[in-house]
Amino acid sequence: MRRILLACVLAMTTCIAQETATTSSAPDLAELKKMSARFAPTPLEVDTSKLSAGDQKALIKLIQAARIVNRIFMNQFWSGDPALYQKLQQDKSPLGRERLHYFWINKGPWSEIDEHKAFLPGVSNKKPAGANFYPEDMTKEEFENWVKTLSDADKAQALGFFTVIRRDSNHKLKMVPYNQEYRADLEHAAKLLREAAALTGNASLKKFLDTRADAFGSNDYFESDVAWMDLDAPLDITIGPYETYNDEIFGYKAAFEAYVNIRDDLGFLGQHLQEIENNLPEDPQFRNPKLGALAPIRVVNEVFGAGDGNHGVQTAAYNLPNDDKVVQQKGSKRVMLKNVQQAKFKATLVPISQVVLPGAAQKDVNFDLFFAHIVAHELTHGLGPHQIKINGRETNPRLELKELYSAIEEAKADVTGLFALQYLMSQADQGKIQMPIAHGPEAERRLYTTYLASSFRTLRFGLQDSHARGMALQFNFFLDKGAYIANADGTFSVDLEKIKTAVRDLDHDLLTAEAQGDYNAAKNLLSKYSVIRPEVQRALDTLKSLPTDIEPVFVTADKITGERAPGEAGVR
Ligand SMILES: [Zn+2]
Repeated sequence: MRRILLACVLAMTTCIAQETATTSSAPDLAELKKMSARFAPTPLEVDTSKLSAGDQKALIKLIQAARIVNRIFMNQFWSGDPALYQKLQQDKSPLGRERLHYFWINKGPWSEIDEHKAFLPGVSNKKPAGANFYPEDMTKEEFENWVKTLSDADKAQALGFFTVIRRDSNHKLKMVPYNQEYRADLEHAAKLLREAAALTGNASLKKFLDTRADAFGSNDYFESDVAWMDLDAPLDITIGPYETYNDEIFGYKAAFEAYVNIRDDLGFLGQHLQEIENNLPEDPQFRNPKLGALAPIRVVNEVFGAGDGNHGVQTAAYNLPNDDKVVQQKGSKRVMLKNVQQAKFKATLVPISQVVLPGAAQKDVNFDLFFAHIVAHELTHGLGPHQIKINGRETNPRLELKELYSAIEEAKADVTGLFALQYLMSQADQGKIQMPIAHGPEAERRLYTTYLASSFRTLRFGLQDSHARGMALQFNFFLDKGAYIANADGTFSVDLEKIKTAVRDLDHDLLTAEAQGDYNAAKNLLSKYSVIRPEVQRALDTLKSLPTDIEPVFVTADKITGERAPGEAGVR
């Protein structure tokens, strides 16, 4: 998920990257301020008052454990990172403070959204490709030749998530397991997890925390990954080594991250999935009469994020675990960070809407409907054709649509999500179901107007991104159907009469292309509609000066622990 966002952000910040490339010296105060202003400082406040007394105490322990994860992550990111962070804290000049601040945003001296270019003097031009997982002077070939000399068991460890590669006294490669490499920090974090486990009354949380503390000591994460899949508690935590994006050499080594969250469920949509599938705008023969179990979705509010889960562009949702053995046995789980989405909504979507919507429509931009659609999008990835038959041959849409599949599938999830919300709103209007979110004509106007504005948030990513390709397809289809109107002043409006039919029509075409594995139909749709037309480009040009993302300020976490990280916004 984060990887997708990164690609997007890279595309829209190339101008700034080029600027730094031409000046060999580090950016000055004014430049650095411009760079960090791309991340709008946004408080993340969470109501913790509904937690049990035990969970409230456990929460403090978990935030403290997560702060240790920041340290481990910086150690993993670059060997000189922890010392540089210390040194930056000594410099109290305005430039020194700004350097510390931007370092903290990136958790290192390289600017993530400028292709990891250095913004501090005295460090290498770019982040080391293998981070601190491998010796900086190691080549790919050296590693591969060394691995060939290992026994099968050692080979699995060397290629595995939880070891770093170092040099021995003879300059030969060797591996060191995480429980040795980060022993002191992991022992400290494990102690805090066990204390939190003793404080909570929730059995599934207790189980996860105890088994994860054991894993920090044993380096065997399997049992605790299984316990994380079973975690079902008001206090929701993800902590450990997970994503491998920072290992740009092989993608083998897992970086530590932590998300300390409080549950906020939106289970309502999930209860109606079969009914939505049974009514999808497609030939009834393509519908699935019995949906299988879908990956569970947890909606949470983030109290604190750390390590790999808090640098550069902020994660708004994550899907874990990554270990195939666990996924085979237990599946995976998607966690959606609602308050992070809300912070991004305020910092980026609201300013976008002020550019792309007429003045009178801006009051219709609504977070609850925006978020309901994001959840609907994720859920409706699970609806529609998945197992298909072509001339008696069993296959699936991904295999048949090949490189076009991801853009078509993202567009499908978007419009099926709109269709699903509209379907449920209409059912609620007729009194057939209870709906915890608004329905009726005003809510519909808000849904489609918010969706139109949010299209530009996605289109900003650039057409190399499959979400943006899928969004361009929708945008132009709706324009051609008269469901979206390009106004003379450069803004856009929704025709509420036409949009519902246009959504159904496009959903029909996308679902049918998938159900029939019809590569040519997909190709025709994308080449006709998945383009940036001049009126859209003009709006996108105006959006360039708006913030790219947020810098979360963990006000609740800072308040209840009485601690704050040097460099965090608000303490400069
Ligand atoms: Zn998607």
